[in-house]
Amino acid sequence: MSGLTLPVMPDIEVTPTRPVRPPQSAILGTYARVPLTLVGGQGSELIADDGRRYLDFTSGIAVNALGYGDPGLQAVLQDAASGLVHVSNLFRSEPAESLAEWLVAHSFASRVFFCNSGAEANEGAFKFARRWARGVGGSAKHEIVALRGSFHGRLFASLAATDRPRYRAPFRPLAGGVTIVERDLEHLAQIITAETTAALIIEPVQGEGGVRVFDAGFLRELRSLTKERRVALILDEIQCGLGRTGWLFAYERAGIEPDLLTLAKPLAGGLPMGAVLLTDEIAAAIEPGDHGTTFGGGPLVATVARYVVTRLADASLLESVRQHGTWIHQELGRLTAEVPHVRGFRGMGLIWGIDVAMRASQVVDAARELGLLVLTAGDHTVRLLPPLTVTRAELARGLDTLRTVLS
Ligand code: PLP
Repeated sequence: MSGLTLPVMPDIEVTPTRPVRPPQSAILGTYARVPLTLVGGQGSELIADDGRRYLDFTSGIAVNALGYGDPGLQAVLQDAASGLVHVSNLFRSEPAESLAEWLVAHSFASRVFFCNSGAEANEGAFKFARRWARGVGGSAKHEIVALRGSFHGRLFASLAATDRPRYRAPFRPLAGGVTIVERDLEHLAQIITAETTAALIIEPVQGEGGVRVFDAGFLRELRSLTKERRVALILDEIQCGLGRTGWLFAYERAGIEPDLLTLAKPLAGGLPMGAVLLTDEIAAAIEPGDHGTTFGGGPLVATVARYVVTRLADASLLESVRQHGTWIHQELGRLTAEVPHVRGFRGMGLIWGIDVAMRASQVVDAARELGLLVLTAGDHTVRLLPPLTVTRAELARGLDTLRTVLS
């Protein structure tokens, strides 16, 4: 090519032939993302692309229970990545069998269905409950009852069970046969019938709905009511399960056992995975073809999840979550007494909601400016979901920052 002189092309104006992308992102705007790009993390801290470090009390919305850069998790991930990633559910695979056995051994359940997200887990649970209920009481026994303030996901049936008018209204008609009722025993006792109700779904601690911890007595009453009327009790522990309350499963606190339980968020250490745990009786109603998933329970996610659940079930970790909870309770009590903008607080373990006079999103923005990431749970509740491995010093630092913001 040497010696050849290429003609210099004149500048030409290129007319775009496709619509110009919005400048900020090509990703569909289903989230109001904040202008913060995260590139790394260590322990309870996240690192942005400008090098700034943030103390993270969001855990990827209750997913990153082991924090960031956990050496054990990284080793398992790397090891699993060199093996089979996917085989389909037409074959057996050891990691899924082993994870299911572990979950069965550590819970009320005798069978497990794996899927890929929280909403999917709830959709599966609804189908399993209806399938069982039809056998028990015929086709009229199909209603699913959910509670005021609940959040169970944004697919059609899970959205129908989610009490967020703004999320629901644009998508009507939602799945039928799902009713939302008040969090009141008398009311529930009127609505739930042996003839028409297949299942009652409840989060033992409502997360998105403002961090509402149901008292153990209320959960026990619901258990007796549903038992008496042969209604499946589904516990959604997608946000509050796997150690976040200080118990491996939140239901343990109430000394009850559900018929079905749904898990997701922290289950596979940040890889997408959901699970439905079922009693023998419900499982016996399910036949091949009743439900399915291409990806659910693949070897890579199952291997990682098997490691994560072992870590989250560790007695000393659970004990430290409970102790952190007791300490946070005291500190938030002081904050509420001293700072007029704080109206109240609720929570346990490492899931807390703080009611504030201003919009919660203003607090989230101001905290971020000061290097602390927190969430909202409704318009006037700030939500804290630190990694379960958080230290007391980090909790103290985060609460100090919040005090500054709220004062
Ligand atoms: N259930 C609860 C209690 C949740 O908190 C969430 C998500 O926030 C879901 C269900 C839905 O989970 P996913 O976003 O994985 O579909």
